[in-house]
Amino acid sequence: MLSCKEVTTLHATEGLEHASWRTRMGARLHLLMCKHCRRYVRELARIGAAVRALYAVTDEARDEALLRRVLDSVRDGPSARGGRTWR
Ligand SMILES: [Zn+2]
Repeated sequence: MLSCKEVTTLHATEGLEHASWRTRMGARLHLLMCKHCRRYVRELARIGAAVRALYAVTDEARDEALLRRVLDSVRDGPSARGGRTWR
């Protein structure tokens, strides 16, 4: 049977994706019997979801800021930005 350290390392490093069938089954069996590792894996999933949500918000805010800059630029014209004025 896999140790707690082996199971948590496999989950933390995404090593399960590349592990053999036997190792993946061993990790699942370990999680069925070990509440500490279950808790660790659950917390790892929550942290991952929080980070993904943070990046989604950041991307959305960045896109909104870019759109606002483009709209301001179109509305105010190039002279408002100190740029060249075409005649
Ligand atoms: Zn364990």
